[in-house]
Amino acid sequence: MKLVKLIANLGYGSRKDVTLMFREGRITDADGEVLYADDKVAHEAIHIDGKPLDPPAGLTLMLNKPVGYTCSTKDVGRLIYDLLPSRFRHRSPLLSSVGRLDRDTSGLLLMTDDGQLLHRIVSPKAQLAKVYEATLAQDLRGDEGAIFASGTLMLESETTPLAPAVLEVLGARQARLTLTEGRYHQVRRMFAAVGNHVEALHRSRIGGLSLGDLPAGQWRVLDAVDVQRLF
Ligand code: URA
Repeated sequence: MKLVKLIANLGYGSRKDVTLMFREGRITDADGEVLYADDKVAHEAIHIDGKPLDPPAGLTLMLNKPVGYTCSTKDVGRLIYDLLPSRFRHRSPLLSSVGRLDRDTSGLLLMTDDGQLLHRIVSPKAQLAKVYEATLAQDLRGDEGAIFASGTLMLESETTPLAPAVLEVLGARQARLTLTEGRYHQVRRMFAAVGNHVEALHRSRIGGLSLGDLPAGQWRVLDAVDVQRLF
């Protein structure tokens, strides 16, 4: 791919903007040597204003989403894209979230521009474990674990029962729930179905991939080993 198109696709500006950046000598190699639009150069060598070019297409990252951010490209209020470099919103192919977390849910959110990977992760066939920690408004009754594990729980306006899910009691009003599917507001609706209410919800793991010590509001690029850990 031509350099102007490659850099424009990474969200640095229109092709016209990027052509101007070349003319202004802002695009260089690692040693500060000015590059020209028709140079042949490895992606890792390209620098803009002295900073390495963003990762190429095929980018997957994890975000520790704070409460109050919406998983959407356009919405009123704060968006997950506000937590990333502003260019990332304009990349082509688009960097989109892998499934969604509610605005009031925090924790592990994956974002990728790799359509095949996205489908592998969200596919019902993958049955990837998604692990949530919930803080509840009322004490657990004691029968929730059996109900969630039964594979017979029907949520309102659904036509098929939920797949069995695993509940671990962490405290009177604290629980860890592991799901292998991802229905709309599933955790909140499951606790509502057993007469409780989720006050706070955090996702800590997808497949074998955890947030680790990534602070809230921060993100990091996943490498091939991280991606393998998902499956
Ligand atoms: N279940 C929910 O209720 N909300 C989320 O954000 C994720 C799972």
